[in-house]
Amino acid sequence: MTTTTPTGTLHRHQAALDQGQFWIQQCKSCHEHIYFPREICPHCGSDAVEFVTPSGWGKVYAVTTVRRKPADGGDYNVSLIDLDEGPRLMSTITNIAPDAVRIDQRVKAHVEVTDGRGVVKFTVSEGASS
Ligand SMILES: [Zn+2]
Repeated sequence: MTTTTPTGTLHRHQAALDQGQFWIQQCKSCHEHIYFPREICPHCGSDAVEFVTPSGWGKVYAVTTVRRKPADGGDYNVSLIDLDEGPRLMSTITNIAPDAVRIDQRVKAHVEVTDGRGVVKFTVSEGASS
């Protein structure tokens, strides 16, 4: 494991999120996409990784409903999303009831900025072809 300085890859990624932009990385050597950002390509070991803007499209790989008291915001889902570019990430689907999320549903990413900090979340896009 290597540590990342505040001025490194993770910081740049978060700074983009805070501006409402969702970035992933692509390796210039093997062309695989990478998320969460890192300094070295996990596929081939190259350090020639660069930020790219993904399509934002993906599909649900797995979903769990997390129970929470209404006073604390109510139930929400924790979903694993496979981006069309390949990487899998953990996020939340915001526009339907937590227990209505289905595996293989098409979802689209957006960035929610709260108190200056951006987080990637997803919405279900019914009727979109896959
Ligand atoms: Zn690579």
